[in-house]
Amino acid sequence: MRLKKIKLAGFKSFVDPTTVPVAANLVGIVGPNGCGKSNIIDAVRWVMGESSARHLRGDTLADVIFSGSTSRKPVSQASVELVFDNSDGRAPGEYARYAEIVVRREASRDGASDYFLNKTRCRRKDITDLFLGTGLGPRAYSIIEQGMISRIVEARPEDLRLFLEEAAGISRYKERRRETENR
Ligand code: ATP
Ligand code: MG
Repeated sequence: MRLKKIKLAGFKSFVDPTTVPVAANLVGIVGPNGCGKSNIIDAVRWVMGESSARHLRGDTLADVIFSGSTSRKPVSQASVELVFDNSDGRAPGEYARYAEIVVRREASRDGASDYFLNKTRCRRKDITDLFLGTGLGPRAYSIIEQGMISRIVEARPEDLRLFLEEAAGISRYKERRRETENR
Protein backbone atom coordinates (compact mmCIF):
# COMPACT_ATOMS: atom_id res chain seq x y z
CA MET A 1 0.00 0.00 0.00
CA ARG A 2 1.39 3.34 -0.99
CA LEU A 3 0.16 6.91 -0.55
CA LYS A 4 -0.50 8.42 -4.01
CA LYS A 5 -2.31 11.68 -3.38
CA ILE A 6 -3.41 14.03 -0.65
CA LYS A 7 -6.50 16.06 -1.51
CA LEU A 8 -7.49 19.07 0.55
CA ALA A 9 -10.36 21.56 0.39
CA GLY A 10 -11.18 24.25 2.93
CA PHE A 11 -8.44 22.82 5.17
CA LYS A 12 -6.33 25.54 6.86
CA SER A 13 -4.71 27.67 4.11
CA PHE A 14 -5.87 25.29 1.33
CA VAL A 15 -9.23 26.93 0.69
CA ASP A 16 -9.54 25.82 -2.95
CA PRO A 17 -9.55 22.10 -3.76
CA THR A 18 -5.88 21.11 -4.01
CA THR A 19 -4.26 17.80 -4.90
CA VAL A 20 -0.77 17.12 -3.61
CA PRO A 21 0.72 14.31 -5.70
CA VAL A 22 2.99 11.89 -3.85
CA ALA A 23 4.64 10.63 -7.00
CA ALA A 24 7.66 8.80 -5.60
CA ASN A 25 8.90 7.14 -2.44
CA LEU A 26 10.89 10.25 -1.62
CA VAL A 27 9.12 13.58 -2.01
CA GLY A 28 10.21 16.94 -0.63
CA ILE A 29 7.86 19.84 -0.03
CA VAL A 30 9.64 23.16 -0.21
CA GLY A 31 8.43 26.73 -0.04
CA PRO A 32 8.72 29.98 1.88
CA ASN A 33 7.76 30.31 5.56
CA GLY A 34 4.01 30.20 6.05
CA CYS A 35 3.20 28.77 2.61
CA GLY A 36 1.45 25.70 4.05
CA LYS A 37 4.02 22.89 4.23
CA SER A 38 3.21 21.91 7.80
CA ASN A 39 -0.52 22.31 7.07
CA ILE A 40 -0.19 19.34 4.69
CA ILE A 41 1.24 17.20 7.49
CA ASP A 42 -1.54 18.42 9.82
CA ALA A 43 -4.00 17.30 7.13
CA VAL A 44 -2.56 13.77 7.13
CA ARG A 45 -2.80 13.57 10.93
CA TRP A 46 -6.32 14.98 10.90
CA VAL A 47 -7.72 12.55 8.32
CA MET A 48 -6.17 9.65 10.27
CA GLY A 49 -8.33 10.70 13.22
CA GLU A 50 -6.29 13.16 15.28
CA SER A 51 -8.73 14.66 17.76
CA SER A 52 -6.49 17.00 19.72
CA ALA A 53 -6.59 20.61 18.46
CA ARG A 54 -3.19 21.20 20.04
CA HIS A 55 -1.60 18.41 18.00
CA LEU A 56 -3.03 20.11 14.92
CA ARG A 57 -1.45 23.41 16.05
CA GLY A 58 -4.79 25.06 16.80
CA ASP A 59 -6.89 26.10 19.81
CA THR A 60 -10.12 24.40 18.75
CA LEU A 61 -10.91 21.68 16.22
CA ALA A 62 -12.71 24.26 14.02
CA ASP A 63 -9.30 25.94 13.51
CA VAL A 64 -8.58 23.45 10.75
CA ILE A 65 -11.32 25.07 8.63
CA PHE A 66 -10.18 27.96 6.40
CA SER A 67 -10.86 31.07 8.47
CA GLY A 68 -10.60 33.69 5.73
CA SER A 69 -7.89 35.99 4.46
CA THR A 70 -7.73 39.58 3.22
CA SER A 71 -9.20 38.53 -0.11
CA ARG A 72 -11.33 35.47 0.79
CA LYS A 73 -14.26 34.85 3.10
CA PRO A 74 -14.09 31.99 5.61
CA VAL A 75 -15.61 28.67 4.51
CA SER A 76 -17.85 26.39 6.55
CA GLN A 77 -16.37 22.99 5.71
CA ALA A 78 -12.99 21.30 5.48
CA SER A 79 -12.19 17.97 3.87
CA VAL A 80 -9.06 15.89 3.40
CA GLU A 81 -8.63 12.70 1.40
CA LEU A 82 -5.71 10.28 1.30
CA VAL A 83 -5.63 8.13 -1.81
CA PHE A 84 -3.65 4.88 -1.43
CA ASP A 85 -2.54 2.58 -4.22
CA ASN A 86 -3.29 -0.95 -3.03
CA SER A 87 -2.43 -2.81 -6.24
CA ASP A 88 -0.16 -5.05 -4.15
CA GLY A 89 -3.29 -6.12 -2.20
CA ARG A 90 -1.54 -5.67 1.15
CA ALA A 91 -4.34 -3.76 2.87
CA PRO A 92 -5.70 -5.87 5.72
CA GLY A 93 -8.94 -7.87 5.72
CA GLU A 94 -11.79 -6.96 3.42
CA TYR A 95 -9.83 -4.01 1.97
CA ALA A 96 -7.18 -6.25 0.37
CA ARG A 97 -9.34 -6.60 -2.77
CA TYR A 98 -9.52 -2.89 -3.59
CA ALA A 99 -6.89 -1.51 -6.01
CA GLU A 100 -7.35 1.91 -4.47
CA ILE A 101 -8.27 2.89 -0.92
CA VAL A 102 -9.58 6.37 -0.21
CA VAL A 103 -9.71 7.63 3.36
CA ARG A 104 -11.70 10.83 3.83
CA ARG A 105 -12.64 13.11 6.70
CA GLU A 106 -14.98 16.10 6.56
CA ALA A 107 -15.78 18.63 9.24
CA SER A 108 -18.01 21.64 9.52
CA ARG A 109 -18.15 24.60 11.88
CA ASP A 110 -21.14 23.18 13.77
CA GLY A 111 -18.77 20.49 15.12
CA ALA A 112 -19.85 17.64 12.82
CA SER A 113 -17.01 15.36 11.73
CA ASP A 114 -17.50 12.44 9.36
CA TYR A 115 -15.16 9.72 8.13
CA PHE A 116 -15.38 7.72 4.91
CA LEU A 117 -13.58 4.66 3.58
CA ASN A 118 -13.94 4.27 -0.20
CA LYS A 119 -16.90 6.68 -0.17
CA THR A 120 -18.81 4.73 2.50
CA ARG A 121 -19.34 6.49 5.80
CA CYS A 122 -17.50 4.78 8.62
CA ARG A 123 -16.36 5.25 12.20
CA ARG A 124 -13.07 6.84 13.19
CA LYS A 125 -12.18 3.44 14.60
CA ASP A 126 -12.56 1.76 11.18
CA ILE A 127 -9.80 4.03 9.89
CA THR A 128 -7.48 3.59 12.87
CA ASP A 129 -8.07 -0.20 12.70
CA LEU A 130 -7.14 -0.26 9.02
CA PHE A 131 -3.78 1.38 9.67
CA LEU A 132 -2.97 -0.12 13.06
CA GLY A 133 0.38 -1.89 12.83
CA THR A 134 1.47 -0.06 9.66
CA GLY A 135 3.17 2.86 11.38
CA LEU A 136 0.59 5.26 9.94
CA GLY A 137 -1.95 6.79 12.28
CA PRO A 138 -2.68 10.08 14.02
CA ARG A 139 0.23 9.62 16.47
CA ALA A 140 2.21 6.82 14.83
CA TYR A 141 5.88 7.09 13.97
CA SER A 142 5.37 7.57 10.22
CA ILE A 143 5.30 11.27 10.99
CA ILE A 144 8.49 12.31 12.78
CA GLU A 145 8.24 15.88 13.91
CA GLN A 146 10.72 18.17 15.61
CA GLY A 147 11.59 16.89 19.06
CA MET A 148 10.18 13.40 18.51
CA ILE A 149 13.53 11.63 18.16
CA SER A 150 14.60 12.86 21.57
CA ARG A 151 11.19 11.86 23.00
CA ILE A 152 11.73 8.32 21.69
CA VAL A 153 15.31 8.18 22.98
CA GLU A 154 14.20 9.37 26.40
CA ALA A 155 10.93 7.38 26.51
CA ARG A 156 10.08 5.17 29.47
CA PRO A 157 10.45 1.45 28.60
CA GLU A 158 6.61 1.01 28.55
CA ASP A 159 6.26 3.79 25.96
CA LEU A 160 9.20 2.61 23.90
CA ARG A 161 7.61 -0.81 23.77
CA LEU A 162 4.51 0.70 22.06
CA PHE A 163 6.69 2.01 19.23
CA LEU A 164 8.36 -1.38 18.84
CA GLU A 165 5.02 -3.19 18.83
CA GLU A 166 3.72 -0.88 16.12
CA ALA A 167 6.89 -1.42 14.05
CA ALA A 168 6.62 -5.19 14.49
CA GLY A 169 2.98 -5.06 13.36
CA ILE A 170 1.63 -6.68 16.51
CA SER A 171 -0.33 -3.72 17.89
CA ARG A 172 -3.26 -4.75 15.68
CA TYR A 173 -3.45 -8.15 17.45
CA LYS A 174 -3.03 -6.67 20.91
CA GLU A 175 -5.89 -4.26 20.18
CA ARG A 176 -8.10 -7.14 19.03
CA ARG A 177 -7.28 -9.11 22.15
CA ARG A 178 -8.16 -6.11 24.29
CA GLU A 179 -11.49 -5.77 22.48
CA THR A 180 -12.28 -9.47 22.91
CA GLU A 181 -11.41 -9.41 26.61
CA ASN A 182 -13.64 -6.37 27.17
CA ARG A 183 -16.66 -7.98 25.54
P1 ATP B 1 7.39 27.26 8.01
O1 ATP B 1 8.39 27.18 6.90
O2 ATP B 1 7.51 28.54 8.77
O3 ATP B 1 7.33 26.05 8.88
P2 ATP B 1 4.96 26.31 6.68
O4 ATP B 1 5.09 26.25 5.18
O5 ATP B 1 5.08 25.04 7.43
O6 ATP B 1 5.96 27.42 7.26
P3 ATP B 1 2.29 26.40 7.70
O7 ATP B 1 2.47 26.41 9.18
O8 ATP B 1 1.92 25.12 7.05
O9 ATP B 1 3.57 27.01 6.98
O10 ATP B 1 1.19 27.46 7.26
C1 ATP B 1 0.91 28.57 8.05
C2 ATP B 1 -0.10 29.42 7.29
O11 ATP B 1 -1.36 28.77 7.28
C3 ATP B 1 -0.28 30.75 7.99
O12 ATP B 1 -0.22 31.77 7.01
C4 ATP B 1 -1.66 30.68 8.59
O13 ATP B 1 -2.33 31.91 8.57
C5 ATP B 1 -2.35 29.72 7.62
N1 ATP B 1 -3.47 29.06 8.27
C6 ATP B 1 -3.45 28.15 9.28
N2 ATP B 1 -4.69 27.82 9.66
C7 ATP B 1 -5.52 28.52 8.84
C8 ATP B 1 -6.94 28.62 8.76
N3 ATP B 1 -7.78 27.92 9.53
N4 ATP B 1 -7.44 29.46 7.82
C9 ATP B 1 -6.63 30.17 7.01
N5 ATP B 1 -5.30 30.13 7.05
C10 ATP B 1 -4.75 29.32 7.95
MG1 MG C 1 6.27 24.42 9.02
